Parts: sequence; C-alpha cells; structure tokens
Amino acid sequence: MELKVAIVANKEELTIQVVYRLRRLLAQAGIPEDPLQPTIVISVGGDGTLLSAFHQYEAQLYQVRFIGVHTGHLGFYTDWRDYELAEMVASLQNEEIKSISYPLLEVKIGYANGKPKRRLLALNESTIKRGNRTMVADVYIKDELFERFRGDGLSISTPTGSTAYNKSVGGAVLHPSINAMQLAEIASLNNRVFRTLGSPIVISDNDWLQIKLQHSSDYQVTVDQLDIPQDQMDTICYRIAQERIRFVSTRHMHFWHRVKDAFIGDSEAHEI
Ligand code: NAD
Repeated sequence: MELKVAIVANKEELTIQVVYRLRRLLAQAGIPEDPLQPTIVISVGGDGTLLSAFHQYEAQLYQVRFIGVHTGHLGFYTDWRDYELAEMVASLQNEEIKSISYPLLEVKIGYANGKPKRRLLALNESTIKRGNRTMVADVYIKDELFERFRGDGLSISTPTGSTAYNKSVGGAVLHPSINAMQLAEIASLNNRVFRTLGSPIVISDNDWLQIKLQHSSDYQVTVDQLDIPQDQMDTICYRIAQERIRFVSTRHMHFWHRVKDAFIGDSEAHEI
C-alpha cells in the first residue's frame, strides 16, 4: 500500500506542538502528506477530533485507514500517546500494516415535502430530539410497528459509540465485534396511558429501524457531533451500513481493557 498521510488536529496548544513533531518525523521517514487522497489519516487530539477526521474523509473509507494520537486523556478512538510519535511513525513503515474495522450506522432522512432522501454515516450515534416539546414518534423494526414513543428523544448508536452518549442514557456497552446497532430512549414518558419498552434494544444487521415522526417541526437530528439542519423531516431510517471504518491496529487496545480504563480505573487504588 502506498503511504500518503493526512493530519487532522484540534487547535489546542499541545496538539500544535505534537503536529509539528509529527510532521518532522514523517518527513525524516520519507512519508508524504496528501490531504486530498490519503491512505492513512492521523487524528491528533481527542475522540472528537477523530470523529471530525472520520466525517472529513467518509467518502474515501475504501482507501483510508485511521490512527489516533491523544493529547488529553485516553480516548476510545485514540491509541497513541503524544510521546510515542516516533514508535507510531515506525509502525507505519512496516510492510504489512494490520487493520481492524468497525461497524458504522447508516442514517437516511426522508422529508414530507418530497425533497430527496438524505444519506449520512455515523461513527458514534445519531439522536433525534424535539426542542422543548414532547417528541412523538412511531418506532418500526423491519416495517413492523414496535411502539409509539413519547419523550425527549431517541439515540441510535454503533457498537463503538455505545460507550459515548448511549451509555449516558442507560444503554449497554456493546463489543465492536457485534455487527449491530442499539436503540436507547431519552427520558421516555411511561404511565398508564403511554407505554414504551423502557429498555435499550440491540438490533442486528439484518434488520432496520424506521422512526416516523408525528409532527413536522422543532426536531433536532444529530449525527456524531454534527447538527443536521432539516426541514419537514418525517421519517428516519437506520441500519448498519455496508461501509466500515478501518483503523491501523498495530497497537489497538483490548476493548474491555479500554472500557475499564475509561470508566472504572484502578478500583483498588480508590479504596482507603
Ligand atoms: P467531545 O470531543 O467533547 O466529546 C465528548 C466526550 O465524549 C469526550 O469525553 C469524548 O472522549 C467522549 N467520547 C466521544 N466518543 C466516545 C466513544 N465512542 N466512547 C466513549 N467516549 C466517547 O465532543 P464532541 O466532539 O462534540 O463529540 C461528540 C460526541 O460526544 C457525540 O458523538 C456523543 O457521543 C458525545 N456526547 C455525549 C454526551 C453525553 O454523554 N451526555 C452529550 C453530548 C455528546
């Protein structure tokens, strides 16, 4: 594989210094930068930076592999520390760069006014919320009505996104080898009149979800950190995408180790 690198970085002071050192190391190793047609995208910053890098290069997933350097706390998509740049650049020079791929979420937004459907990809999740009003939506699984949802909103996440917003709204953490998406409720209304399942569900890659909105205004749709401006939206369809994201896996951390590191830490160290 021809090595051509693009760097996506945040604007933090430490990141700027790291990018400077990275550029020097890449030049010494004879690895060229090509921001338009890269084969490796190096993200320097945090998970948010990697999400931006993904969206910047999502049309080139067939040829691009990602690698994340973190300049803050350990991230979920960032494997390398800022002081390990030389080792990381050396690992890119190996004949055979190993990679690991993860599922992505396909989001298709349909409009009541006949506007063509819009297709997007999410690496973490997509959410639907409705301003300050109760969101009312019919949830279909594979064309069959499952429930009428009333509440603040819904989150639909990928396995790697399950540790992000999904976890904050009570969703389960899903191992990324499971090719599935997760639907989690955000503050559902549940009483003697209104009823939803009330727990997150995991939907396989053979199935799809359709969310049919009962009103046409005040909605906010997010795809990762992007707010999708929409008008007259009426149906959103979710499924596991054909495309996958590939990461350089030279030093990919064991998923459960990463979960423990991020959320539990060294619990004995907390004991008095
Ligand atoms: P950001 O970069 O500030 O990220 C917010 C936090 O989410 C950071 O601590 C980041 O490390 C963490 N994060 C991102 N992806 C993660 C993942 N896959 N697993 C575990 N932690 C993850 O903010 P941003 O650039 O706006 O990032 C957008 C993401 O932030 C969204 O995709 C959403 O998942 C997450 N988010 C979470 C909440 C919440 O938990 N209440 C609210 C808003 C956004």
